[in-house]
Amino acid sequence: MAAQREWYEKDYYKVLGIGDDATPKDITKAYRKLARGSHPDTHPGDDAAEERFKEVSAAYDVLGDEVKRKEYDEVRRLGPIGGFQGGSPGGPSGYNFNVGSDGLGDILGHMFGRGRRGGGPSAAAGPQRGGDVEATLSLDFADAAKGLTTTLYLTSEAQCSTCHGSGAKPGTQPAVCSNCGGRGVIDDNQGLFSFSSPCRVCGGRGVVITDPCPTCQGTGAEHRAREVQARIPAGVADGQKIRLKGRGGPGRNGGPAGDLIVECHVARHKLFGRDGNNLTVKVPVTFAEATLGGDVDVPTLDGPRVMLRLRPGTASGSRHRVKGKGIDAKKGTGDLIVTVEVEVPAQLTDEQRTAVEALAAATTVSPRTRLES
Ligand SMILES: [Zn+2]
Ligand SMILES: [Zn+2]
Repeated sequence: MAAQREWYEKDYYKVLGIGDDATPKDITKAYRKLARGSHPDTHPGDDAAEERFKEVSAAYDVLGDEVKRKEYDEVRRLGPIGGFQGGSPGGPSGYNFNVGSDGLGDILGHMFGRGRRGGGPSAAAGPQRGGDVEATLSLDFADAAKGLTTTLYLTSEAQCSTCHGSGAKPGTQPAVCSNCGGRGVIDDNQGLFSFSSPCRVCGGRGVVITDPCPTCQGTGAEHRAREVQARIPAGVADGQKIRLKGRGGPGRNGGPAGDLIVECHVARHKLFGRDGNNLTVKVPVTFAEATLGGDVDVPTLDGPRVMLRLRPGTASGSRHRVKGKGIDAKKGTGDLIVTVEVEVPAQLTDEQRTAVEALAAATTVSPRTRLES
């Protein structure tokens, strides 16, 4: 049986003065150096040195063994999960932990609630983080660009509205757990070491619910419709997910709530497009404006039109930048990218036709001469 609590509480990497990415060679090297400096043979009667030697040996016993090290890393990552059944303080000096090959399986078994004793949902071991909840939000183009605070209506696991998450029937109080006396942990003294594990009866909460809430049957959570205020930052893109910390499913046994993940759908705009924080817009101009140059007015997303000065001989399809008229997001302000499109009139007045015919007569060189090879 793995000494999981011990493992979780002790940073063996720190004991050996190495990083958790240390190679097996580094570990052995660090151990040899520290063991030499504190060996009882070279420090007779020095209790502090002996203590230090034991610590270093215990650390190396785990980190020096690739299988044990893997399990140790796993315990450190997952946290101490209930159901530690002590550990064997084997070895003649009492500091070698015997780790069964079922160490990891044991941890996972408890994660999924196997081998749980004591009834009721509150007997799950230790605090558990609530689940993440996903929601979608449809935004119009301008709101996505500017950001907004909105109300999301969703149906999900939420804190029970009858008991406010306590799990106890309103008007009743949870009782102090008789198994652990309200401490939430059970000590198991085994010679040199004392192992404590979360109480299996109360799941580490120190209290048990004798009169469960009728709405949630004592779980403290219910599936219900709820409203969540969400702040959507400026410049959110179509398909982007916003994580709202702690707004997801409620935690169990005093664990933290999960997150709410909002996937944003941004509608198209009839004039503007997006390119990161830049806005894009196509602006039609006349042949005369493009040829002679001049000021053309250009729409902006949320303000008055701005003037764009075209040089004489501006090409159709050319792009022009209007500084600072893009999306005003946290990560800088974008620009408005204007694509000029020369519009060819479908119909002409007599006056216009005369003018265009005069232009044609004055055009002596065809642009297609460039195509001759
Ligand atoms: Zn309830
Ligand atoms: Zn208890």
